[in-house]
Amino acid sequence: MTGSIVLFGPPGAGKGTQASIIVDLTGKPQISTGDMLRSSVSKGTELGLEAKTYMESGKLVPDQVIIGLIEQRLEQSDASGGVLFDGFPRTIPQAEALEKITNVSAVISIEVPDDDIVSRIVGRRMDPETGEIFHVSFKPAPTEIQGRLIQRKDDTEETVRNRLAAYHEQTKPLGDWYGERGLLIPVDGSGTIEEVGNSVEAAVKSL
Ligand code: ADP
Ligand code: ADP
Repeated sequence: MTGSIVLFGPPGAGKGTQASIIVDLTGKPQISTGDMLRSSVSKGTELGLEAKTYMESGKLVPDQVIIGLIEQRLEQSDASGGVLFDGFPRTIPQAEALEKITNVSAVISIEVPDDDIVSRIVGRRMDPETGEIFHVSFKPAPTEIQGRLIQRKDDTEETVRNRLAAYHEQTKPLGDWYGERGLLIPVDGSGTIEEVGNSVEAAVKSL
């Protein structure tokens, strides 16, 4: 399959956690706009400075900033056979811009109720050395690396509420938009990491 795959879902649904299954099965590189933005913020670039306030308050970064980032990334040679988008697009204008530059073959939507989202996000921890995502209860890190784990600044209960509001207002309608185009594959994201992984694997194999 030469087209791109979109991994869609609310913040904290498990997109980053499940992305590696799709990368392993398809060989497509993962493009996470959240990771790209965090890297710009930590480097202190102009784009990072602009994005930072939005990210810290749980609002979406303006479409034009995101579309510019994606246009540049898709020019790299590893993107020519399609990619796995993680956390992008998040608005209908982003999806419309994407339509003009790449072919989306499928949108795998990880569906998780809001009540589960808060506990997933507040307990999320990341290993800065490997990028691996853990959870204090649902995926505890090995004891020897626990001391170096970091918590994202926007992973607080207050910010999660804003991120969920942004999701319901701006991102969820995009799921319906892809549904109307026959591209949406819903996956139940409320089970364990392993159970969701099995469903994601089955969805990719059905393509
Ligand atoms: P996203 O990329 O969609 O924001 P993550 O993959 O970072 O989500 O997952 C958010 C948090 O929830 C992480 O701490 C992760 O370990 C945990 N998590 C992911 N999937 C599940 C699951 N099915 N059950 C419980 N916790 C999960
Ligand atoms: P999560 O999936 O856990 O919400 P991300 O790492 O995908 O986290 O995104 C973190 C923040 O980066 C978002 O809250 C938002 O401010 C910004 N962001 C990431 N991707 C996009 C996007 N496609 N459009 C607008 N803002 C984005």
